[in-house]
Amino acid sequence: MTYCGRKGCENPAIDRRSGNFGYICPACVRELHEKLVREPFSSIADFMTSPKMKSRLYDSVQEIIDIEFPVDLDN
Ligand SMILES: [Zn+2]
Repeated sequence: MTYCGRKGCENPAIDRRSGNFGYICPACVRELHEKLVREPFSSIADFMTSPKMKSRLYDSVQEIIDIEFPVDLDN
């Protein structure tokens, strides 16, 4: 069994492996994806050494937008 190389993450990693950072689990891939959408110039090295978020992960970018800007049905 291979484990995610991100600090504080103990999830099993399956198939994604970086030459620089080692393996990463699917949950961290999703979190990294969201981070890069929000902050395109943020560093992957910083992400891998930042503790895993405790809060829930969003299913999609659309969900993040829907939460921040819900459709106003009164209008
Ligand atoms: Zn992970």
